[in-house]
Amino acid sequence: MNLTNKRALITGGTKGIGAAIAVDLARQGCDVVINGRNDDESAAAARQSISAAGRKCVTVLGDVARPDDVDRLVRETEASLGGIDILIHSAGGPSWGMIDDCTPEQWKSTFDTHVHAAYFLCRRALPIMRKASEGAIVLISSVAGIRGCPNAIAYGTAKAAILHFTRMLARDEADNNIRVNCVAPGIIRTRFHDSMTAEAKAHNLAVRIPLHREGTPEQVAEAVRALVTNDFITGEVLVVDGGASMQVCR
Ligand code: NAP
Repeated sequence: MNLTNKRALITGGTKGIGAAIAVDLARQGCDVVINGRNDDESAAAARQSISAAGRKCVTVLGDVARPDDVDRLVRETEASLGGIDILIHSAGGPSWGMIDDCTPEQWKSTFDTHVHAAYFLCRRALPIMRKASEGAIVLISSVAGIRGCPNAIAYGTAKAAILHFTRMLARDEADNNIRVNCVAPGIIRTRFHDSMTAEAKAHNLAVRIPLHREGTPEQVAEAVRALVTNDFITGEVLVVDGGASMQVCR
């Protein structure tokens, strides 16, 4: 896919990984809609970087866990950009706890934000995307959806569902030339890890990540761009984790 003048909707595009994806796509020639729940300093910074790239940037606030908000988000994206060629679902945050700590409300809300939002977004956006001759969807999963991670039962299970939703949707949409892929980041330094202790960080760098460094949102954005632009990849998962999920022992 050539990105010049393409139209992209990025949930979670106001901060962290989503903001880096939005800025990267804008630098490649896309007009973008960024979404988050708050219009804050990070959202303003993302807008500024996108405008500096000479592309249109519209902010549509809304909670992707709410189907009505998703419906409005897609409607306003089509109205402001004239269509949707690229859909990225990056909205969401951590959901900590083992099964005894994870309440039914937390379990459901984790799925609402990560999994059900992907379903509602794709279901609402695909009829618009099919009007063009090509399209690309990238969903942000996690290495926690691929390997066992402690103390994040709802989060890891939801992120695993994203992996297979990707494959199923990719198969169904292939005849429409809409490719569906997934990126699974490891530890990427964003607000997501604000609560990480210095000890945990040191342990990650020394033991858990073979490359001994954390990743950046920009490195995830590069992986997303590769999946958006490469016309022969669909239904795949690209892991961006410094080798954390491939090692069996240290
Ligand atoms: P982040 O810096 O906290 O950014 C999260 C973004 O999602 C913000 O724009 C936030 O905006 C938005 N958001 C959160 N909940 C939302 C909701 N219910 N409705 C709409 N927008 C919502 O986190 P990040 O690190 O970029 O994470 C982005 C994605 O990468 C998430 O899916 C996360 O699970 C995944 N991931 C992150 C890492 C990592 O190490 N950072 C690793 C693996 C996977 P508001 O705050 O205004 O709502």
